[in-house]
Amino acid sequence: MSRQQEFSVAILGAGLGGLGMGMKLTQSGEHSFVILEKASDVGGTWRDNSYPGASCDVQSHLYWFSFDEQPDWSRVFAFQPEIKANIDRLVDRMGLRRHIRLNTEVAAAHWDEAAGVWRITAADGSEVRAKSLVTAWGQLNRPTYRDIPGRDTFRGESWHSARWNHAVDLAGKRVACIGNGASAAQLIPEVAEVAGELTVFQRTPNYVVPREDRPYEQLERKEFLEQPDKLRASRDGFYWEHEGWMGAMKQGTEVAAEFTAAARAHLEAQVPDPALREVLWPDYPIGCKRIIIADTFYPALVRDNVSLVTDKIEGVEEAGIRTSDGTLHEFDVIVYATGFETLSFNSALDITGRGGVSLNEAWRDGPQAYLGVTVSGFPNMFMLYGPNTNLGHNSIITMLECQFDYVLQGLEVSQEKDAALDVRADVQRRFNDELQAELSDSSFAGSCNSWYKTAAGRITNNWMGSVEDYKAATRRLDVDAYDLVPTGS
Ligand code: NAP
Repeated sequence: MSRQQEFSVAILGAGLGGLGMGMKLTQSGEHSFVILEKASDVGGTWRDNSYPGASCDVQSHLYWFSFDEQPDWSRVFAFQPEIKANIDRLVDRMGLRRHIRLNTEVAAAHWDEAAGVWRITAADGSEVRAKSLVTAWGQLNRPTYRDIPGRDTFRGESWHSARWNHAVDLAGKRVACIGNGASAAQLIPEVAEVAGELTVFQRTPNYVVPREDRPYEQLERKEFLEQPDKLRASRDGFYWEHEGWMGAMKQGTEVAAEFTAAARAHLEAQVPDPALREVLWPDYPIGCKRIIIADTFYPALVRDNVSLVTDKIEGVEEAGIRTSDGTLHEFDVIVYATGFETLSFNSALDITGRGGVSLNEAWRDGPQAYLGVTVSGFPNMFMLYGPNTNLGHNSIITMLECQFDYVLQGLEVSQEKDAALDVRADVQRRFNDELQAELSDSSFAGSCNSWYKTAAGRITNNWMGSVEDYKAATRRLDVDAYDLVPTGS
């Protein structure tokens, strides 16, 4: 039996974005869709990040779709295995598995102007055609090792935080962790528990605020399961608490000052040594880099078997890491918690739109989109978690939900008008000019480097406002913002 190759919608990626879109399509009655996934399993970031201590720093009730049945979460902030298990259950419960093609890496997607469809080619040469293309490849899935020289010469074991090697027992080993971002802050306390010695290489300190995690009691769990109102109230409470954090994403605000004070109090409560405190205290505005939400990170750093090195890494050698002061730090294992390549969005994927223009060409000055969803010249291509839709203050799930509904509207208009939607270039330009102007006094624009922006300082990843602002901007698709491209169907 030959496999179906023509669909209304092709979704690229089976993480929470792609799966949520699949659910929304199913709920709307659209069953002609395929989800193409390059890996051998679903789950996106929750498949890739299985490092010890991996968890979500957004409360579970807020880190799940509001339009779905909430899982029975065991604690306020769930760990990765629980999130991944709930994603697997969702896929089965919603009958999504029959739509998903695993081990299918998409190499290219071309808009066929004559036929008015997307032709999507997998690395194995197979092709599917779809009226609409939904990209759901995430922003944080291509590990970077930051070109630290000599990596391949190391005689011990090494790996990236998002490619954890569970076969190596760290008990008693001399372990290095390069980086102190959100991933490192979660894995360092766990590794410190088992390693003989753990050395953390910090280039830039981060602000750390309390997490206040705890297991839910049996009675609470029962109530959340039996009383939808209580669960909704919990989710709403977390949502509005996070919306309140928005002030910290603007420089010089009262909220930013309150957050800075909370971070300082946390540091002083958890790190007794004044000299170490100063090494751990940032000199850029709060929110400029991702705020770390952790109760166990600082206590791990003050353990006897943990040391912090702030000298610049010159390179990796056979026996370990050489720093700028000439010291060779010897290790059995090096963990690269060095983050992800976040600025190109489409990776090596070759996407071409109208007139054969490639997405890389359209984005030669940096990635940009209209509302983070549509890109001029690429009809009926909709992006989830696209340019300028990341947040520093709230759950990405809430942004994805806005995008799902916006895409559904786009698909409906496309069907009604028998045409593909291509956002007007002037609309996209005006939107991005306003966006960049609004971002210019954001914390992200402050004096730090981060994965949110290019070396030249253009903020390509983060949204300019609150989730409420984004909801308002995406609530109703403005057909006038789009050229309607005949599809000839
Ligand atoms: P990251 O925030 O990009 O952190 C990379 C770390 O590696 C930084 O500390 C960076 O230092 C350091 N580094 C890079 N090159 C280095 C070098 N040559 N020498 C020394 N240090 C170097 O990556 P991440 O921690 O994987 O987090 C990425 C994002 O994933 C987070 O911001 C967050 O959005 C998401 N995340 C979320 C959760 C969650 O709980 N929801 C958990 C983990 C991650 P500099 O700061 O100096 O660049």
